[in-house]
Amino acid sequence: MQIAANNPNRESWLNVAKGCDFPIQNIPFGVFITKDDIITIGTRIGEYAIDLGAFHQLGYFDGIPLTDDMFMQDSLNDFISDGRKTWRLVRNRIAEVFDSKNPSLRDNLKHREVIIFDVNEVEMLLPISVGDYTDFYSSKEHATNVGMMFRGADNALMPNWLQMPIGYHGRSSSVVVSGTKIRRPSGQTLPNGERQPVFGPTKALDMELETAFITTDVNNLGEPISVDDASEYIFGMVLFNDWSARDIQKWEYVPLGPFLGKSFASSMSPWIVTMDALEPFKCNGPKQEDTLPYLRQKSFENSYDIKLQAAVETENGDLNLLTETNFNYLYWTMAQQLAHHTSNGCNVRAGDLMGSGTISGPTKNSYGSMLELTWGGKEPITLKDGTTRTFFNDGDNVIIRGYCKNDTVRIGFGKCTGKIMPAIKLKK
Ligand code: CA
Repeated sequence: MQIAANNPNRESWLNVAKGCDFPIQNIPFGVFITKDDIITIGTRIGEYAIDLGAFHQLGYFDGIPLTDDMFMQDSLNDFISDGRKTWRLVRNRIAEVFDSKNPSLRDNLKHREVIIFDVNEVEMLLPISVGDYTDFYSSKEHATNVGMMFRGADNALMPNWLQMPIGYHGRSSSVVVSGTKIRRPSGQTLPNGERQPVFGPTKALDMELETAFITTDVNNLGEPISVDDASEYIFGMVLFNDWSARDIQKWEYVPLGPFLGKSFASSMSPWIVTMDALEPFKCNGPKQEDTLPYLRQKSFENSYDIKLQAAVETENGDLNLLTETNFNYLYWTMAQQLAHHTSNGCNVRAGDLMGSGTISGPTKNSYGSMLELTWGGKEPITLKDGTTRTFFNDGDNVIIRGYCKNDTVRIGFGKCTGKIMPAIKLKK
């Protein structure tokens, strides 16, 4: 049965430009602050930000069981915790009220004034209070490329990689919303051919083009969930740039994996696009080798056709496209990641964030990191202004975009940006 809010024929009485990421079929969720300093949960249609706190207060969610302050909060965690049934009722109701044929809010100018804002007049905040942040490593192309550079072609893909979704526990405190400036980190690195490390600003600041998904409360401690049930617990997805300092990473990562080369910042796009909105874009992922039974999925249509791209904007305003890739290149699915995550009984909670890992495609112009695009810094990229990059410079603004499109509808994520600030010098 089609989800009512996904009806591709529906039009809104709010103007939506052709090619906009946020038609009435999207209805993502985010948190923003208005120019009157009011923080609220909201959604977006076209270039309008919709205050769901006011919408709820004025009775537009009547009949849906919601607490009074459900949307007057600075994070979506409680709403996400309510579960899929509530998300679907809320999203369907918003679609109904903003349908061009529905006069209830359309013809009430007083209500429109307190509910609807120009999206440029609000400031987007981090939409969730990130509980735990886990980052996977689920692109076979990326894992192979990085393995070749760090360990050589013979040991590129570790033997465990094809058996389970490899991941590590990241740092939630440094997950920031798109637009937050990124400070170049300092750390220990081992210069080529040296035996003694040095400390200083990274010379290899990189992006990782990822998506991330956000969960509701999944399981109690000690109780794994089944791979076929896992999708039920995923609220939605965002674009994600898991910033990485490759020189710090290379020196520190053996034996325990990524630490300070990754934990200094991760940027996420502000609007969480629900799995319900992405439903029409389900597709098959890559064919998998046989896995252990707990990772075998009944259905093959477990991936999503999400077009992704990254660009760098230099300080003169030039936009330079770096790569174009697709979510459906990922080998391991989100359901497998979540089932594997809970398979030892680890509990996953509402507002937890799961990064996909860098999404690289099979060709050189579809790699998801500068590490791969410049092959370890050996093949610099020339930008429009004539300068070259192996990794990013201070002042570079890295922009990730993503959207799905079929014959009838385009569902987009907007963008995830971060401009790089110079490192802070330590006194010693
Ligand atoms: Ca990553």
